[in-house]
Amino acid sequence: MTQITLVQGDITAQHVDVVVNAANSSLLGGGGVDGAIHRAGGPRILAECRALRASHYGGGLKEGQAVATTAGDLPAEHVVHTVGPVYRDESVERGTELLASCYRQSLRLAVELGARSVAFPAISTGVFGWPMESAARIALSTVRAELAAAGSGGGADGGLVEVRFVLFGSEAYGVFEGVWRELAEGG
Ligand code: ADP
Repeated sequence: MTQITLVQGDITAQHVDVVVNAANSSLLGGGGVDGAIHRAGGPRILAECRALRASHYGGGLKEGQAVATTAGDLPAEHVVHTVGPVYRDESVERGTELLASCYRQSLRLAVELGARSVAFPAISTGVFGWPMESAARIALSTVRAELAAAGSGGGADGGLVEVRFVLFGSEAYGVFEGVWRELAEGG
């Protein structure tokens, strides 16, 4: 059984096998959690991102996709970079599917890498503008469904012990906790 846990904190300080980055499609770093990961992880992460760009993602990594690099100096083995959708009122349905895809693809990649623990930030809820409660619902329900599918032979399985959501600040943490409680009560 894989545990889903919620913590308030800084994702760059998490001792996990895989840290997921809310990257942008250029893979060349940015602000928010992306900037924090590159700062704390050092230049090896950016070097691998540049190499991936040159070899596979010249046109950029697409929304909903995920790709792995070293974690550099972070207390983790790998960083999985995924590009969340920008929130747009006129395309919430498509965005929802892309945001769910970020969690699914990242989780599957982490399992392929043999991870026992994975830490996610609240993808798309910063500069990309996704409302926190909606993002929490998508994040938690997608990961829960993916883990449940793994239990019955599909989806991401392997030796994953913990999927940790690392929320930056008490407000984000409170929203995730509320949604998680609701989902748990809903069965
Ligand atoms: P996006 O472009 O996908 O919206 P951001 O990095 O702007 O990505 O924000 C995503 C979420 O990550 C936001 O809720 C932001 O508060 C949070 N965040 C920023 N820095 C950190 C950090 N060091 N650890 C965890 N979460 C962070």
